[in-house]
Amino acid sequence: MELLDKARELAIYTAYNTNVDAIVYLDGKTVQKLIDEFGAEAVRRKMDEYPRQIEEPIDFVARLVHALKTGKPMAVPLVNEELHSWFDSRFKYDVERMGGQAGIIANLLANLDFRKVLVYTPHLAKKQAEMFVPRPNLFYPVVEDGRLVFKHPREAYREGDPIKVNRIFEFRAGRTFKLGEERIEVPFSGRFIVSARFDSIRIYTEESLKKFLPIIGETVDGAILSGYQGIKLRYSDGKDANYYLKQAKEDIMLLKRHRNLKVHLEFASIQNRELRKKVIYNLFPLVDSVGMDESEIAHVLNALGYPKLSERIFTYNRIEDTVLGGKILIDEMNLEVLQIHTIYYIMYITHADNPLSEEELRKSLEMATTLAAARASLGDIRSPEDVKVGMKVSYNERGEYVKLRFEEAKRRLRTREYKVVIIPTRLVKNPVSTVGLGDTISAGAFTSYLAMLKEKGEL
Ligand code: AMP
Repeated sequence: MELLDKARELAIYTAYNTNVDAIVYLDGKTVQKLIDEFGAEAVRRKMDEYPRQIEEPIDFVARLVHALKTGKPMAVPLVNEELHSWFDSRFKYDVERMGGQAGIIANLLANLDFRKVLVYTPHLAKKQAEMFVPRPNLFYPVVEDGRLVFKHPREAYREGDPIKVNRIFEFRAGRTFKLGEERIEVPFSGRFIVSARFDSIRIYTEESLKKFLPIIGETVDGAILSGYQGIKLRYSDGKDANYYLKQAKEDIMLLKRHRNLKVHLEFASIQNRELRKKVIYNLFPLVDSVGMDESEIAHVLNALGYPKLSERIFTYNRIEDTVLGGKILIDEMNLEVLQIHTIYYIMYITHADNPLSEEELRKSLEMATTLAAARASLGDIRSPEDVKVGMKVSYNERGEYVKLRFEEAKRRLRTREYKVVIIPTRLVKNPVSTVGLGDTISAGAFTSYLAMLKEKGEL
């Protein structure tokens, strides 16, 4: 793929979030053992309470059984750090792999043979470091004797750093177990995520490295930043979300100090509305590019004061509403480019003066969906060769319909001041894994966008 070859000449910086995804393939027997341990009656009572976070093992068991009963994928934060050992004593993890957007994107770009990939994550325990692929183009910035040096992340770990482990319980339809007298059969396959939200995990750049951010900004062509959903409203030491968002703003400005490099922010859903709003208002105006999925744009519009439009996107998933929402977002936040990915299509919205033509923007999205299709087919992309698999995946069967509805929407909405392009996704029927596909789309879209800007002398 010619465009991928161009993108591979780039150097990219990515930060902040990494974690270890520990995966358990659940069987009925394991679930039964948990229920028997705590007693069906107690589990049922807890299920009625519906704990919003996990403080005790029974909170976990109750929410897990609830998820299994409904077959709905769910994620519940684990806030009690002491439960690590409880989980580790009860479960054997079938797979451990890199999680977190910055970690997933760093490994992806390194495997694709990008010229240089710099990854920064504020906590780098040995186990976390080992999740990085052993590629010579992957570096982690370290300050030694007041000087900036780059090492492979596996050589840069720090003993004693906290580690964030997200436990992912994958379940299959048809598994059965008993809750007292009630026989439960899992109706759909899915996953239950216990996401670690500990006080010790922070999103920031350590003080000694901060002053080198302008140099890092000069070294790379673009930065992909993510993980802001991990910021908490308050911490035990008195620091709060405002403190960390101020730091985050400084980081972006420091990266851009010597050179106006392009910054992409990958947005992930933030449950708390107050925090969501803070992230949008503080950070969107400072970045050039934002990526998100359809439900996230609905959340964002709600936070910006468009509850009706947000509700419509949630309920009807109409392309027309997404285009309208995208126009509002790039205008109010003055973004250079907004990328929205959904299961059936991917879209770019820019202002009309964007240096790339609509045809070029479309090519960039094409690369994005091809990478995602390759990852969905193979579970991971280990080399540029792997991308060929994605090119063989056909567009989803709603592709033609999507294009039609899009042309209709364009006629109805005023789009002359914008460039709006859309492509149907290449959709894999039985994906090996769906983790990280959104991140893959965004990394593919942003880097190919940069490659074309660079070719035109616009970067
Ligand atoms: P996110 O919601 O951010 O995790 O992004 C998921 C995206 O991955 C979707 O919007 C799709 O574009 C893409 N995707 C999901 N499932 C598949 C699949 N089976 N094959 C290819 N792409 C997929």
